[in-house]
Amino acid sequence: MIKIKNLKKKFGKLEVLKNIDMNVKKGEIVAILGPSGSGKSTLLRCMNLLETPNDGEVIFEGKNILDKNCDINKARQNIGMVFQNFNLFPNMSVIDNITFAPIKGKKMDKEDAIKIGEQLLQRVGLIDKKYAYPSQLSGGQKQRIAIARSLAMQPDVMLFDEPTSALDPEMVKEVLDVMKELAKEGTTMVVVTHEIGFAKEVATKVVFMDGGYIVEEGTPTEVFDNTKEGRTKDFLSKVI
Ligand code: ADP
Ligand code: MG
Repeated sequence: MIKIKNLKKKFGKLEVLKNIDMNVKKGEIVAILGPSGSGKSTLLRCMNLLETPNDGEVIFEGKNILDKNCDINKARQNIGMVFQNFNLFPNMSVIDNITFAPIKGKKMDKEDAIKIGEQLLQRVGLIDKKYAYPSQLSGGQKQRIAIARSLAMQPDVMLFDEPTSALDPEMVKEVLDVMKELAKEGTTMVVVTHEIGFAKEVATKVVFMDGGYIVEEGTPTEVFDNTKEGRTKDFLSKVI
C-alpha cells in the first residue's frame, strides 16, 4: 500500500531522515518507535506530504505521490491522520467536525455524511456527544472524535502520531481500545507510539528509528524479545 524508497528530508542543514526504506502492506499494523527527535513524525508526515521530502519516493497504491502529475489531494483523502493534539475544529460541533471533509472534500450528500458520522460515533462510543463542542470533551473523547473524523473519509490507511501522548493516563486505554478494534477489522495502520504494550499486542511489524535511520525492524517478538541492535536495547531498557 505504501512503499518508501531512499527517502531523505532536511530542515535547513539538519538531516532529519537519512535514506529511509519502508513498506506497509494492506492490513499491516506498523508501530514506529524511537527516541524524541529521531524523525518519526517527519517520516509519518512525508507519507501524506505534510512535509515534502528532499529525495526519494513515496509510492501510495502504486503511484509516486511526489510526482508532479499525481493528484495529492485525492491521495490524501485515502490517507487518514490522527495527531497527538487532536486538531479538532474548535468552533464546530462533533458531528460537524466529522462530516465537514466528506461533505466539502468528497461532495457527499449531507444526510449520508450524517448517517456515516452517527455510525462512527456509535463505534467510538460517543453518540451522546453528537452536538457537543470540542471544549466540552475530555482528551480521550477528543481523540476518539478525531479518529472518527478521519475514518469518515473512509481512508485506505490510517496514520497515528503519538495518539495517546497528550492524554491523562486514565484516558489512554479508551483510545487504544478503539485502535485495537480498527486493527481487528483489518484497517491498515502506521502508529508512532511509546505504548510498548500496544505495539507488542497489536503490531504486525515494529520499526525502531534513531537519528533519522531505521535501525531495526521486525515482528514484535523479533524486536522486543530478540533485540539485535544496541541502540534499540538501550531505548527499550528506558521505556519498558
Ligand atoms: P520525533 O517525532 O521522532 O520526535 P521529529 O520528526 O518531530 O522527531 O523531528 C526530527 C528532527 O527534526 C528534530 O530535531 C526536530 O527538531 C526537527 N524538526 C522537525 N520538524 C521541523 C521543522 N518544521 N523545522 C525544523 N526542524 C524540524
Ligand atoms: Mg514526533
